[in-house]
Amino acid sequence: MSIEELARKNVRDLTPYQSARRLGGKGDVWLNANEYPTPVAYALTQQTLNRYPECQPKMVIDRYAQYAGLKPEQVLVSRGADEGIELLIRAFCEPGQDAILFCPPTYGMYSVSAETFGVECRTVQALEDWQLNLPAIAEQLAGVKVVYVCSPNNPTGQIINPQDMRTLLEMTRGKALVVADEAYIEFCSQATLTGWLADYPHLVVLRTLSKAFALAGLRCGFTLASEEVIALLLKVIAPYPLSTPVADIAAQALSPQGIVAMRERVAQILDERAYLVSNLRDIACVEQVFDSETNYILVRFTASSTVFKSLWDQGIILRDQNKQPSLSGCLRITIGTRAESQRVIDALRAENV
Ligand SMILES: *Cc1c(COP(=O)(O)O)cnc(C)c1O
Repeated sequence: MSIEELARKNVRDLTPYQSARRLGGKGDVWLNANEYPTPVAYALTQQTLNRYPECQPKMVIDRYAQYAGLKPEQVLVSRGADEGIELLIRAFCEPGQDAILFCPPTYGMYSVSAETFGVECRTVQALEDWQLNLPAIAEQLAGVKVVYVCSPNNPTGQIINPQDMRTLLEMTRGKALVVADEAYIEFCSQATLTGWLADYPHLVVLRTLSKAFALAGLRCGFTLASEEVIALLLKVIAPYPLSTPVADIAAQALSPQGIVAMRERVAQILDERAYLVSNLRDIACVEQVFDSETNYILVRFTASSTVFKSLWDQGIILRDQNKQPSLSGCLRITIGTRAESQRVIDALRAENV
């Protein structure tokens, strides 16, 4: 047998997640991964690298619990929110038997994680306004153990109606977990569902330091849930999921000053978003700029492939969303610095349509 044949069938068939990094490009304006545009400096304070780290570093857990308004027992820290997505499947879905459900167009890692573990992906297309199609979800729930809802949604940028989330939580009670992926919640913090955890033991909230906290390179994320759910996830997580330097920097980012600095970054990104949106709306090749509650905007272009390629060739790297259902002609643009917005605006003004 070839090595390829030795591998599990679902792994042979798997298309890996097409991350912005993997897609490459040679640019100087990187607006394709929803990162914060400039680095924040940190110094290491822990010099105990001869020792294994704590599995769940106490300072990080306590500070995140405080920030989220929850008990430490309701918080799990992991190698990015992506690991949280995967742990939920590993703890709750029986391969070849159970399913997860999500609503495209949305984040790509739900399907990649499920497929890796041999867990069925069921999809229910979002409505025209990208809200949940609740009757269709209700029909598809048999065998579903985890429903992923990204809010605000990546890549469309809008918050999922809270009333619809409530209906979804009622229809899944006792049957499945509902996971609210809040990777971008700091850009619209009033929309968080963490306050509902007390009422719904099957609600799970995912968070990350990769976006508003400007720490995508750190790989640190959080799962917030009932103590029962967290206890189950702790059974399947690796013994040392975070390295000592990661825990060190995460604790600093979550200090009172760290939170203040994060809120200042959010305010600055929201200003910059308003500037970019108002300029894009006057450009000929721009068909529609969709409202966003996040640090990126979804834009529909006439001839989006040409626009994408032309900006790519000028070193401006955006994220092509053309292939997602209902997103033909759409590119996603991360909010960067003023200089980066200006490069995008100038390049788009020069496009001939
Ligand atoms: C960026 C992102 C994540 C992943 O966060 P990491 O903590 O960097 O793994 C999860 N969900 C959504 C919707 C994201 O956009």
